[in-house]
Amino acid sequence: MEKTLVILKPCTIQRGLVGEILNRFDRKGLRLAGMKMIQLTDALLSEHYAHLSEKPFFQRVKDSMMAAPVVVCCYEGVDAVEAVRALAGPTNGRKAAPGTIRGDYSMSFQENIVHASDSPEAAEVELARFFKPEEIFEYRQATFDYLYANDEY
Ligand code: ADP
Repeated sequence: MEKTLVILKPCTIQRGLVGEILNRFDRKGLRLAGMKMIQLTDALLSEHYAHLSEKPFFQRVKDSMMAAPVVVCCYEGVDAVEAVRALAGPTNGRKAAPGTIRGDYSMSFQENIVHASDSPEAAEVELARFFKPEEIFEYRQATFDYLYANDEY
């Protein structure tokens, strides 16, 4: 089944929204396979946000991601990458629809609550960047049979 990376950004930690945001993923039915609090570094972020390296706001985004610790999570589910991106909403919180995480909690392009992997290929690379293999747990979700029809996975 597909796994994806979610990062609760420093703005989320500082605004006391960790529980509320984790609740969004819980109630959707995603399986929490890994979670920890870490302090990001400039080197790690230069890798993670390499696609933004030519942008004028590159350093500002990295500084924002280092302003406080973050919570990194690995969620699993059928089509988890797409489902989590849909829950997160588009990058700019001001434009994100109400009901999405960014639409409900963010007024900013940058301070937009969560990072979520944008493809299954990116998710694999990003999970390997932030988690050791032993930090990802393979247990059976107790609610599994009530989350999916048996031909959906
Ligand atoms: P996403 O996080 O939606 O996948 P990107 O990968 O394009 O978006 O950008 C990574 C992060 O960089 C965004 O989540 C946001 O915090 C920041 N960012 C992207 N574009 C802008 C922008 N135009 N102005 C300010 N911050 C931005």
